[in-house]
Amino acid sequence: MQIIADLHLHSRFSRAVSPQMTIEGIAGWARKKGIGLVATGDWTHPMWMREIGEKLEEDGSGLLQLKSNAHAEVANENLDPSSVASAFSPATPSLRASEAGQNFVRSPHAQQPQFLLSTEISCIYSQGGKTRRVHTLIWMPTIASAMNFSKELTKRGCNLLSDGRPIIGLSLINLAETVFSVEPRALIVPAHIWTPWFSVYGKMGGFESLEEAFGEFANRIYAVETGLSSSPDMNWLIKELDSRAIISFSDAHSGAKLGREATVFEIDERENDEHKIKKQDERMITYEDIVEALKQASLESRALKVGVEDRTSKIEKSNPLSATNPLPPSSMLHLPAFIAYTIEFYPEEGKYHHTGHRDCSVRLTPQETVTKGTTCPVCGKPLTQGVMQRVEELATRIQNSEFRIQNEIKLLYNKEYPSRPPFVMLVPLKEIISEAIGSPVASSKTQLYYEKLVSQFGGEFNVLLHADLPEITKYSTAEISDGVRKVRIGDIVIDPGYDGVFGVVKIWKSDKERALVDTSKEQLGLF
Ligand SMILES: [Zn+2]
Ligand SMILES: [Zn+2]
Ligand SMILES: [Zn+2]
Repeated sequence: MQIIADLHLHSRFSRAVSPQMTIEGIAGWARKKGIGLVATGDWTHPMWMREIGEKLEEDGSGLLQLKSNAHAEVANENLDPSSVASAFSPATPSLRASEAGQNFVRSPHAQQPQFLLSTEISCIYSQGGKTRRVHTLIWMPTIASAMNFSKELTKRGCNLLSDGRPIIGLSLINLAETVFSVEPRALIVPAHIWTPWFSVYGKMGGFESLEEAFGEFANRIYAVETGLSSSPDMNWLIKELDSRAIISFSDAHSGAKLGREATVFEIDERENDEHKIKKQDERMITYEDIVEALKQASLESRALKVGVEDRTSKIEKSNPLSATNPLPPSSMLHLPAFIAYTIEFYPEEGKYHHTGHRDCSVRLTPQETVTKGTTCPVCGKPLTQGVMQRVEELATRIQNSEFRIQNEIKLLYNKEYPSRPPFVMLVPLKEIISEAIGSPVASSKTQLYYEKLVSQFGGEFNVLLHADLPEITKYSTAEISDGVRKVRIGDIVIDPGYDGVFGVVKIWKSDKERALVDTSKEQLGLF
């Protein structure tokens, strides 16, 4: 069984976060996307922790569930019934009012998501004569441990009420020491590891290695988060990451952004002890599963070193995107859980992909910085180094990925270590719809098609990854269906981001290309 997880997001107690990021709002959006395991975010914030305690309960597996008095809700972004009527011509019957309303998911797996206690800490301190600014995720298996850790931070003078993502003056080494002294089972995951200003490898505030950053605790870092500006293949170039899981999450500040990056865990359904089973035949993911899945990468790299057969051939035979895998590799190898694949944003879309200077609209590729240098040719200020250039600085090998089309989806694999989880790059469904129908992302017309498809196929990820294209056409338009097809095989155009400017994705190279889509099979009058 596969579970899509998004384990980095923020509550409404963090700066610049939507007021709809309540527990119930997060749960509602998780269902709408098809996310089975989601972060609480921000548990160091006392008021948010109170809300966590009111709405969630521990299920005994190291994760949390909604209490029976709490209900997943999806706020209806700017979709008011009067705009629904004007979005479609009078000849086109609109969605029934109830369908355009709240709580839309009728997924076959319409159960509530599980929650993981995941928070983000910003460490700002000085080491080796340089100011370090690094964000890390901290995952805890119990509310008690989370609260004990918060107490430790308060003792050290940290104002936890100031923000959902607090700033502390502790070094990463002291942070790790504190975390593990409170809870040995805790997990520390360096966040968006390449962003220039706030990450462990960041040029401006980071380090040259995990070793340098975490000292003796480096061997307890089992995973790193790619962040929006990097994809796993970029991380595969770094030797010290061979033994770490490369995972991806959204860092969402609003519900609609949930799952824009995600990690898909595969768990062995036959695993069957009393804590792990919720109902008969319904195996839930546990905290231990997550720990095991993250440790997999280090076990594998060790196995490869001593020449032990890895699980490559078994994985190759199976399709990581198939939920009904006849022979899941996990059961063959008795792995209770592992990472099946990750879902990525196009790294070029990230706002620090290339080097540049925003105010002067200057953007350089790593090759161009070699010839043109790293100061702005317009104003002479230093350029903000992009993730691509930074990766090349720390890289120990050259590009080693290869793609395979499986089930009409393009997956990227590591050529050297093919047993590493592959990844797929996606574009959010609303952006596909928007471009396909030529209407803004926030328009009610885009919104209506989105709601229709998401409800029909039981979540956004089902539409993006699993739904049959003719079926998508049936419930939307031929252009939308073609847009999904193009995203699945990676046939899109991207204008890369730089110095805080997001990159721009285009599904069709031109209106002319889009006009060639065969609309003859489209069924009319569905609304
Ligand atoms: Zn961060
Ligand atoms: Zn964050
Ligand atoms: Zn400039």
